Amino acid sequence: MQCWICGEPASSGEHKLKASDLRAQFKNISQQKPLYLHTQARKNLRIGSIKKSRALKSSVLLCHDCNTNLTAPYDKAWEKLSKHLRNAKGLRKGIIVKISKFFPGCTKQGMLNVHLYFVKLFGCAIKEQGIPIDIGPFQQSILTGIAHPKVRIAIGVNKSMTTGSSDLELASLNGKPAFATWFYVTGCIAVNIMYAEPTERRQGLIGAWHPSTISKRIALLEY
Ligand SMILES: [Zn+2]
Repeated sequence: MQCWICGEPASSGEHKLKASDLRAQFKNISQQKPLYLHTQARKNLRIGSIKKSRALKSSVLLCHDCNTNLTAPYDKAWEKLSKHLRNAKGLRKGIIVKISKFFPGCTKQGMLNVHLYFVKLFGCAIKEQGIPIDIGPFQQSILTGIAHPKVRIAIGVNKSMTTGSSDLELASLNGKPAFATWFYVTGCIAVNIMYAEPTERRQGLIGAWHPSTISKRIALLEY
């Protein structure tokens, strides 16, 4: 199989939920103390290792270089933001989070990298679920480090969802993809990742950010 980002021979699958997020929620997972994964196809699938379990990874593959070099700064940026949000006290709807504290002196680059991390997961989901959204701009965005113009992200306090990632829902207009949305949930934090044509005026886009407009703080939503 080829790497879906660069086309080189591929070797590894991307975790659908970052291993560090899973470890923060589910401590000391082992064969004796497994985690149980639920998907639409299957309930109670035993997971004995967060690092090794194939069920926690996307079935589409990346090459070694894309996985470990190219996208490592993107992974690290989300790991950092996720950790800070998880450890923050009193998170609730409307609260303003000063993201400049987490990326001192490089807020824009830090949040661009967070965006690119979710562009990578979005691309994995498009390929894995066979969603008819053009994958080219996702590949270009990851390879060049330039934001995907149609991907926006909203971050909120999670009240109703289980740790995991949702399937992608797609709305089309005149036979073309117009809007797509999915959630990435880690404990008390939910991230809504959206693909939207410029003409879209969806409720979910209110409060969402793009690297071109990000400021030093964001207001949390609630899901
Ligand atoms: Zn690659």
